[in-house]
Amino acid sequence: MVAGSADANRQTDHAQLLRGQKALVTGANSGIGLATAIALGRAGADVVVNYVVGEDEAHKVVEQIEGFGVRAYAHQADVSDEDQVTAMVARMVEEYGTIDIMVANAGLQRDAPLAQMTLAQWRKVIDVNLTGQFLCAREAAKEFVRRGVVEEVSRSAGKIICMSSVHQTIPWAGHVNYASSKGGVGMLMQTLAQELAPHRIRVNAVAPGAIRTPINRDAWSTPEAEAELLRLIPYGRVGDPEDIARAVVALASDLFDYVVGSTLYVDGGMTLFPGFATGG
Ligand code: NAD
Repeated sequence: MVAGSADANRQTDHAQLLRGQKALVTGANSGIGLATAIALGRAGADVVVNYVVGEDEAHKVVEQIEGFGVRAYAHQADVSDEDQVTAMVARMVEEYGTIDIMVANAGLQRDAPLAQMTLAQWRKVIDVNLTGQFLCAREAAKEFVRRGVVEEVSRSAGKIICMSSVHQTIPWAGHVNYASSKGGVGMLMQTLAQELAPHRIRVNAVAPGAIRTPINRDAWSTPEAEAELLRLIPYGRVGDPEDIARAVVALASDLFDYVVGSTLYVDGGMTLFPGFATGG
C-alpha cells in the first residue's frame, strides 16, 4: 500500500475501510443484518449486534466478528420501544465512546389481504419497520451532532443507513402494511438527510430486492417458487445477504462521502419493470 494521509490509506485498503469506526446493526442475528454486522467487523469496525429474540445466534455473530480482531457485543432491544432504543445507544456510547454508523435494519412482515388485515398486524409492521427506524436514527443523530466530525475516523460526523426495500417504490398487493412502512422509510430517509446534512451527517437507504433470508423463505425454498421469483429478476439470481452487506459497507465508508439522501437499489434489476423486456 502506498504511504499517504490517513484518508488515502483508508480509501485504498478496502479490507479495512471502516477501521476505528463504531457501528450498530439492528436485527443483526439473522439474514441481512447478520451478514451486515459481520461485513462491518471485517471492514474494521467495532460492532453492536442488536437482537430482540435469539440470544444464541446473536452471540455466535459476536464471536465471528471478534475473530477479525475488533470488538463486538450483543444487545437485546426491541427497536419499536423508545426506552430500549435510547438505552441501547447510551450503552454503546459508554462502552465504545461513540457511534459512527447506525444500520437500521430490523424489520418484519405480517401479510394479509386488506379485508383480513387486523389493526394489530398493521401496527406491528409500522411500529417495527418505520417507528423503529425513526427511533434508531434519532438516537444516533443526537450523538453524531454532539461529537461532530473526527477527521482521523471519517470525513462525516456519522452515517445512518436505513434498510428499505424495492417495495419503497413497487406496490405489493397483500402486503399493504409492509409496502407502506417501506414507502415511509424512503421519505423518512430523505427528510432526515435534508435535515442532518448541514451537520455533515449522511443518511441513505439500501433497498434490497429478493434476498435469501428467513423473512421470505416461501418465495425461494422450492424450485417452483424460485423459478417464479426469477421471472422478476433480470440478473437471473436470487440475492444473498452478503450482496446487501457489501453495499452497506461501501455506503458507510468515505468512498461514498458525497452520497447523501440516496436509495441504493441492490436488486438484480427488479425495479427495471422486467415485464416490459418483452411486452409493452
Ligand atoms: P430476517 O427475518 O432474517 O431478519 C429480520 C431481523 O429483524 C431479525 O433479526 C429479527 O429478529 C429482527 N427484528 C424483528 N423485529 C424486531 C424488533 N422489534 N426489534 C429488533 N429487531 C427486530 O429478514 P431479513 O430479510 O434479513 O430482513 C432484514 C431487513 O431487510 C428488513 O428490514 C427487511 O424488510 C429488509 N428487506 C429484506 C428483503 C429480503 O428479500 N430478504 C428484501 C427487501 C428488504
